[in-house]
Amino acid sequence: MIVADRKSIHEILDMVKDCSNILVVGCKGCVTVCNVGGLKEVQILAATLKIARKKEGRPLQVDEALLERQCDPEYIAMIQDRVNDYEAVISMACGVGPQFLSEAYPNQRFYPAVNTTFFGGAVAHGIWEERCAGCGTCIIHHFDGLCPIARCSKSLMNGPCGGSDHGKCEIAKTVDCIWDKIVRKKMEQGRLNDLLQVFPAKNWQTARDGGPRRSRREELIQNG
Ligand code: SF4
Ligand code: SF4
Repeated sequence: MIVADRKSIHEILDMVKDCSNILVVGCKGCVTVCNVGGLKEVQILAATLKIARKKEGRPLQVDEALLERQCDPEYIAMIQDRVNDYEAVISMACGVGPQFLSEAYPNQRFYPAVNTTFFGGAVAHGIWEERCAGCGTCIIHHFDGLCPIARCSKSLMNGPCGGSDHGKCEIAKTVDCIWDKIVRKKMEQGRLNDLLQVFPAKNWQTARDGGPRRSRREELIQNG
């Protein structure tokens, strides 16, 4: 899933400093799973904004909405009757949400309430870690399911750098060296020779370096 963190209340208050009424829109997708932009977080943000502005003596009307997903026009259409009733809309989805909203409702102003960070998963309750960088050409079958693109800080494809130390990355002692894990797993499985294969420089055109990507599934595209 996509992981995100909520922006500080001060930053969000600053975005809407000239508004007297706003709509806060949550998303039931990834940001609900990582406890950032679901129903509870929409309610907390709305209440916090109202209290903060009341203290300033400039009351703010804050209404709430929650969409199944903000990355799908079918759900975005569900707020079409009310979206332009406000001076601004705050999206609590990942960065995709406010962009889809902005394109669907060009007369409205949309602000992001969260910082979108990475593709990852929960490694413990309340802790999420990065696992995929969305490179567009998955090669983790060569590395027993462990990704050196997303999990090595240098995205090395042919073994650890000289900074790997007792299983930790040189960037921080709290960061595992994924190459240490890959080598140990190969050794445990008696397949260390797999790593004799030398990988050429990766073609990054399927990653972000190739520009914005598009996925097209002909069988799902409706004619007419
Ligand atoms: S190789 Fe690419 S697609 Fe596969 S997990 Fe790593 S970053 Fe993601
Ligand atoms: S120490 Fe390991 S994870 Fe860190 S940059 Fe070097 S090879 Fe990559």
